[in-house]
Amino acid sequence: MAPHRTDNPIVDGRSPDQPHQNEDQICVRVSVLEAGKLTLPEHFFCADQHDKNVRNTVPSMSFLINHPPSGKRIIFDLGMRRDLAKYPPEIQPHLQTRQPIFTIPDVSDSLRSGGLDPKDIDAVVLSHVHYDHVGTPSDFIRALFIVGPGTRQLLLHGMKYHSAAHFEKDLLPFERSIELPEPGHAGGQNVGGEQFDAVKLESFVGTAAAWQPLAPFENGIDLFGDGSVYIVNSPGHLQGHLNLLARVARRRWVYLAGDACHHSRILDGKTEMATWQERGQLVCIHQDKPGAEETLRRMMKARKEGFREEKVEIILAHDANWAKEHREGFFPGFL
Ligand SMILES: [Zn+2]
Repeated sequence: MAPHRTDNPIVDGRSPDQPHQNEDQICVRVSVLEAGKLTLPEHFFCADQHDKNVRNTVPSMSFLINHPPSGKRIIFDLGMRRDLAKYPPEIQPHLQTRQPIFTIPDVSDSLRSGGLDPKDIDAVVLSHVHYDHVGTPSDFIRALFIVGPGTRQLLLHGMKYHSAAHFEKDLLPFERSIELPEPGHAGGQNVGGEQFDAVKLESFVGTAAAWQPLAPFENGIDLFGDGSVYIVNSPGHLQGHLNLLARVARRRWVYLAGDACHHSRILDGKTEMATWQERGQLVCIHQDKPGAEETLRRMMKARKEGFREEKVEIILAHDANWAKEHREGFFPGFL
């Protein structure tokens, strides 16, 4: 990757002339956690796929992030629920359309097989609350749950969109959950009365946590206050969709993209996001397609030009080929 200035070189408060302090870069250890598989009809995702019979069994990957300075462990996404019967009845017909589904090992099994237990996890960040990313939250008896803006509204009141868009009112322990505010609102403030406000992000971060510009991404929250991990606002797929950007080595980042994009062909610019007719309306797998396209453009830019001139690898939650090629990154291994 050729070094290339971003269009906003002062994103991290340094002027373009100041050298980056690569010597004191704090890194985290990121491991992939196997967290179940499901089968996706490709024509719902890729515009160039016209054969409705093409279906891919793909992982729904979770990630363990270990932050050495604080000793904290967080997980990004929880994958599939171990016991499919414990999904709500409304979602069961949809699950039939995603068979074969595999739920063992789930994220808790994967932690245990690498010597950890769900109770060792300090925080869980969910990219969004679709069924294939929420796993079994009740396994994480100590963790703080961090979700994006508007998630509580979604859980409590639902939405009309896809057949898969059913949500569980009691998914998260509200007393241990934080809903991030919309960027532009101050951190921890009540947004429309729908904030999870029993705990504040500051209690986890130990410092004021607020959205800041994070070019080429939209906005980010410095999760540990030391520039090693950012929660990134990544709108489009579903209300409150979040990504995670983590520095895994000197000048090397991984960007955990959740469902911001579902197929490497789209990320590579070889095809577009698919649309189709449902109940007389043109729909897309993304709730807000223009928003999702903007998020995708930012990811493509980061992959091409880097983040603060450092290399960024974009990892899609359901990228089966990537998973196959990175077995060494699976827990207890790391990326
Ligand atoms: Zn998904």
